Amino acid sequence: MNLERRKEQWNALEHNVYDVVVIGGGINGVCAYHHLCKQGFSVLLVDKGDFAGATSQASAMMIWGGLLYLRNWDLLTVRRLCTSRDRMQREMGDWIKPRRFRYIPVHSRRSALAHAALYIYWLLGGCRLRRPRRESEFSERPFLIQRGYDPSITYEEAFVEPSDARFVLHWLLTFQNGVQTALNYCALEGGAFDRAKREWRLDMNDSRIGKQGCVRARWVINAAGVWTDGINDRFGLETPFRHVLSKGVFIALKRDPRHQLPLLFETWDKRDGMSLIPWGPVSLWGPTETDTHSVEQGYAVQPEDVQTLLGELNRHLANPAGPEDIVSLRCGIRPLAVGRSHDNGCNSLSLSRRHRIHRDAHTPWISVYGGKLTNCVPLARELVGLLAQSVAPEHAATFTPRGDMPDPRWDSFPHLRDPIPTARWCVDREMCWTLEDYLRRRTNVSQWVARGGLGRHDEHLPHVIRLAKCFSGDDDDVAHKVVTDYRRKITDTFDRVLASC
Ligand SMILES: Cc1cc2nc3c(=O)[nH]c(=O)nc-3n(C[C@H](O)[C@H](O)[C@H](O)COP(=O)(O)OP(=O)(O)OC[C@H]3O[C@@H](n4cnc5c(N)ncnc54)[C@H](O)[C@@H]3O)c2cc1C
Repeated sequence: MNLERRKEQWNALEHNVYDVVVIGGGINGVCAYHHLCKQGFSVLLVDKGDFAGATSQASAMMIWGGLLYLRNWDLLTVRRLCTSRDRMQREMGDWIKPRRFRYIPVHSRRSALAHAALYIYWLLGGCRLRRPRRESEFSERPFLIQRGYDPSITYEEAFVEPSDARFVLHWLLTFQNGVQTALNYCALEGGAFDRAKREWRLDMNDSRIGKQGCVRARWVINAAGVWTDGINDRFGLETPFRHVLSKGVFIALKRDPRHQLPLLFETWDKRDGMSLIPWGPVSLWGPTETDTHSVEQGYAVQPEDVQTLLGELNRHLANPAGPEDIVSLRCGIRPLAVGRSHDNGCNSLSLSRRHRIHRDAHTPWISVYGGKLTNCVPLARELVGLLAQSVAPEHAATFTPRGDMPDPRWDSFPHLRDPIPTARWCVDREMCWTLEDYLRRRTNVSQWVARGGLGRHDEHLPHVIRLAKCFSGDDDDVAHKVVTDYRRKITDTFDRVLASC
């Protein structure tokens, strides 16, 4: 365990005055962190849980131009997202891979419309990707209901591999040194601006070592996703924007070997789209889009979410799927940026997905609203530009990203074809603190293997207990307790939900 190292880190944390503290280790926060570090700013990033522990682990992992936003004629957002998608694909080929998608029309009238829309989409993307193409025969057709479909239409987007959570992590790992630090399990709990010294004093709670500490910084970037408004309220800061919360749930089912391309369908009411996305040994189906007012409820999958998803899916499958076919659940809340006076009665599907950045007029505090995986880099560059107007990086260009990031050591997990990083590696090198962090975010085990990796009938329990030893200081009793707690959580968040469907 790295508890000693963490305690030592705090000595430096309490002595430094950081150029910037970034709140939130989701995609917006970590990408900003990386770009600020690259410019030589001294930066501390904190997350109250694990990195990517909230919405950034629950996305569809698409780096896309926002095809579905065409229905609102939000052409500017689509154009921007397309540009960002293509640039990420060019510059981050290790993580962002091109991927063809297949639109499946259910009526011939929709087919012609969809073809036209996909063509416009392709034009908006600067014609850089492969042109949309009609295909009548395709490998997925046999497991779909045969209703005399019109030809499917394929078009190109990009996809994050191996997962959104590891994509988030990679932005952090390249910059970890004395004055550029990212800490998970460290929550911002309060603080105040010292006007005489022109610096923030921020109260932190490090739940790993039970430490309440104070950190000083010239600037704060609040990138706390759906918690952004709550934090601003706590500091008495007013902004012209706020977040509307939109819950999104996916279910993962065992993948049919014929499932090759992500399939896009319209929902029954034609107001939204849902995708069946092949991902390792599973196919993700979803997401839902439901307005929610409570963060706690928004991150919990309810039986109704699963029923809605199965109902939609079974409109298309030749052999209907049931709760017993579900391998895992995936749930996040989209933080959608709206004006403060926005009418709450408006459905979230009609909202623009543009991000907004607000700089407080009286104190050095920047708030981030909205944002997506797809436009994390332009957003980070905007933040760096804004900051560079006010503070000169203390360590200009002193730090270069660690170019020596070695490949992880590899392990295997029962019934998974692909190797996974070892638990020891993740503990030592990737700030992995718990069994759940390891199974959910450092690897895809809990999404790819039933019941959080335990197996349908707990058949992988002995293997999971062996892994848990890395999180128990090699103590057998503690390892059993770690797994008992993990199993209880799976019972509450997975078994009970499916039993009520
Ligand atoms: C179902 C679904 C599908 C999606 N699909 C896509 C897609 O395919 N492509 C795409 O580009 N986008 C997609 N998105 C959107 C994208 O996932 C989100 O917009 C993005 O992940 C939000 O990132 P974030 O950094 O703002 O928030 P988060 O990932 O939620 O991160 C915020 C972090 O702040 C931390 N935090 C909060 N309070 C504190 C505090 N007091 N102290 C310290 N830390 C704190 C939290 O712990 C959290 O980790 C999807 C979203 C959903 C829900």
